[in-house]
Amino acid sequence: MTQTLQHYINGQRVEGASGRYSDVFDPATGAVSARVPLASAAEVEKTIAAAQAAFPGWAATTPLRRSRIMNKFRDLLDDNADELAALISKEHGKVHDDAMGEVTRGIEVVEFAMGAPHLLKGEVTENIGTNIDSHSLRQPLGVVAGITPFNFPAMVPMWMFPVALACGNTFILKPSERDPSPPLMLAELWKQAGLPDGAFNVINGDKEAVDVLLTNPDVKAVSFVGSTPIAQYIYATGAAHGKRVQALGGAKNHMLIMPDADLDKAVDALMGAAYGSAGERCMAISVAVPVGDETADALIERLVPRIKALKVGPGSDKSSEMGPLVTRDHWNKVKGYVDIGVEEGATLVVDGREFKMTQPGYENGFFLGGSLFDHVTPKMRIYQEEIFGPVLCVVRAQNYKEAMDMINGHEYGNGVAIFTRDGDSAHTFAGDVEAGMVGINVPIPVPMAFHSFGGWKHSLFGDHHMHGPEGVRFYTRLKTITTRWFTSIRAGADFVMPTMK
Ligand code: NAD
Repeated sequence: MTQTLQHYINGQRVEGASGRYSDVFDPATGAVSARVPLASAAEVEKTIAAAQAAFPGWAATTPLRRSRIMNKFRDLLDDNADELAALISKEHGKVHDDAMGEVTRGIEVVEFAMGAPHLLKGEVTENIGTNIDSHSLRQPLGVVAGITPFNFPAMVPMWMFPVALACGNTFILKPSERDPSPPLMLAELWKQAGLPDGAFNVINGDKEAVDVLLTNPDVKAVSFVGSTPIAQYIYATGAAHGKRVQALGGAKNHMLIMPDADLDKAVDALMGAAYGSAGERCMAISVAVPVGDETADALIERLVPRIKALKVGPGSDKSSEMGPLVTRDHWNKVKGYVDIGVEEGATLVVDGREFKMTQPGYENGFFLGGSLFDHVTPKMRIYQEEIFGPVLCVVRAQNYKEAMDMINGHEYGNGVAIFTRDGDSAHTFAGDVEAGMVGINVPIPVPMAFHSFGGWKHSLFGDHHMHGPEGVRFYTRLKTITTRWFTSIRAGADFVMPTMK
């Protein structure tokens, strides 16, 4: 029998009441594994009310006590990491070790947030005027919401809520309806860690639920990660309703390969960055830009046998290197892009559409092999648009300038990498490239939790990146207090703008 999932509101699992559901698949078998309720506006309002009721108590909890609860949550995550990873793999499809990597990167943000007492320290200036001191505080906003994509059902929510909670806010997560079970498990771990009821809630749903979060005046800030058209909508609608918004969008990440690069290392890096998690990563490398035909030919020669040898299989099989795509719809979309690339005249060097899964029980899974296109040009749709699958495009550049003009001219600016042994090229590239996260001989330069994650251009709408110091700024508002203690000396009334005399 198909399992019916719930919401998690005010410290408990709550059955959906709207009568609307969405199917959740096991991408490895193609079967429906569960159905998730899609909340009505009234259910979202109730969730906001629960988070609002929990806010004063949580905001008044001392940072050190909040940090102790975080600490327990971190230990519970450690203890349950394997189970959480298995759940991610079951609904997303990614291989188990990759899912463990996702959990680990999420735990690191919890560890950063455990530093709440330090992170929330303000600034003081003594004697800004005679007998006057000034200090600034960072205070929580209130109820904040996170709306997250399917591709990291645990890690992306954990970019948001540990920092939001550490800062004293209460949190409502609206996860992807495609893999909702890991967030529900996270809610239960919070309860075990001792987080007060209502401080962390999970409301499942679609646009109807999101629209309430974007318009209800009790929601003070919205963090979003997903595709660019929805990110633009979230940013515009949230801002129009007076909310603070950070909306991270799609990506098309380039790897520039200079003629002096260590090609074997570049190929190892490309294999993981282009085909890991079946290319369903916002930091996946989807465009390789070798400089010079000699570099391009040597790169392709090394890549082809590696792509053909990729071990595609279910995420639960330890020997699989690449799992299935998340849904049949997404499989059709990615396959459709391979068809488009062929029609556009790119050279399909490895055709992932030919892959056939024969392992018993998995014949109907959403598996696709890795594809490689050569001679892709910037005018092609397969170059311009985000495919979000195991498809790598090679765009040959004749020199560094041509490569840089192309990369900087692209709509997206999330991650980017250069492979070179030359310090001058690396330094110039890091300074000139228009992207938020840059790797020098590092293919997926995802910043650690104590730095901040975010792209440029159409990869991020808003002013703050996520987690790290930017996360603390996003989830707090600044208050500056100016204090005078009177001495026995009377200054008298002053009718002009206060200035230093
Ligand atoms: P998506 O935009 O379809 O969905 C993201 C979230 O928005 C989900 O919770 C979904 O329910 C909700 N949503 C979908 N349609 C909506 C609508 N019309 N109105 C309101 N809410 C809506 O994205 P996805 O397919 O789940 O995830 C893949 C995308 O996320 C890719 O574009 C990828 O690049 C991007 N992504 C970006 C980053 C980043 O850091 N920039 C990280 C991970 C994923």
